[in-house]
Amino acid sequence: MQSSLLNVNSDFIQSLVYNERERLLEWYLRIKRILPWRAAYGTSPNAYHVLVSEFMLQQTTVQTVIPYFERFIKRFPTLESLATAPLDDVYVFWQGLGYYSRAKNLHCACQQLYEMGYFPKDVATLKTLSGVGDYTSAAVSAIAFDQPVIPIDGNVMRVMARLFMLHQPKGPKLQAETTHYIDVFVGQTNNTYVAQAIMELGALICKPKKPLCDQCPLAGECRAFNENVVEQFPKILAKPIKPKRVATTFVIEDKHGRILIVKRPAKGLFSNMYIFPTTCFDFDPLLLTQLTHLKQLQKTIRHVFSHFDLELTVVRAQTMHELKGEWVLPNDLGRYGMPTLMHKVLR
Ligand code: SF4
Repeated sequence: MQSSLLNVNSDFIQSLVYNERERLLEWYLRIKRILPWRAAYGTSPNAYHVLVSEFMLQQTTVQTVIPYFERFIKRFPTLESLATAPLDDVYVFWQGLGYYSRAKNLHCACQQLYEMGYFPKDVATLKTLSGVGDYTSAAVSAIAFDQPVIPIDGNVMRVMARLFMLHQPKGPKLQAETTHYIDVFVGQTNNTYVAQAIMELGALICKPKKPLCDQCPLAGECRAFNENVVEQFPKILAKPIKPKRVATTFVIEDKHGRILIVKRPAKGLFSNMYIFPTTCFDFDPLLLTQLTHLKQLQKTIRHVFSHFDLELTVVRAQTMHELKGEWVLPNDLGRYGMPTLMHKVLR
């Protein structure tokens, strides 16, 4: 550990956090939530379940993920069953979770693992898998295999920023600073529980607003708590304003009552998924000349993407033409992997 980075005596931190590690563990084993991908104390975690859950939990809350995870595992109970399934099936069982590139990467990662013939334990090999970066590799390595590493996500950074009063702003700089401190929580054993304990502490106790410090096992030595400056950590820079886009989506019906959906290309937003023809997604303007009975819905749909906000107008229309795409009866649309945005349109 580099004491110049720490600004406090590193031996002191080592001894302090060793004790805190024990307390954190004791607290976690007492309060931990029962989650479908979480192994009971003393039992071996299922690495495939851990991998699936970590992909699902990226950008999504635990409570939202639980029913999706259960449905997904029922359909794809083993790594082999997922690796050998068509991608379109995977999308169907990912529907509603959003960020569909995760589903594609998870599918691809399982195919890679299936070809490798074993599940690697170490961060470096895990990072060679599709869609697996610093965080997911560390999470799988620690949680599934008890390796000496702690994954750092937003929750963990928040806990560490408060615990040690780290002054770097939330983002890559705080992540780098946290990396130097987190090592002191790593031990020879029990890393599987410590990793989950810090995440759990951030999710349940050390919340972004109004943290429950009176229930925190680390309150005794938390620097921000003891100096009464908890709300000032982590430091947050003003967010840049996201651009706004407007678009129109067309729900087109033919004379048989079927609806037109089109498949997105293999790269880009909503890759390989089905959408209604929409002006901001490779839309052919000539299509408009082949529509009749256009009716614009009064209400627009707002949807937040990571890089822009979208305001979508919905237009219902009919056609007598054989337009390019898939014609599907409304009751059968559920069999096609469609993004959340299109489900909003349907509703
Ligand atoms: S005492 Fe409060 S601020 Fe400090 S780690 Fe615990 S919950 Fe977070």
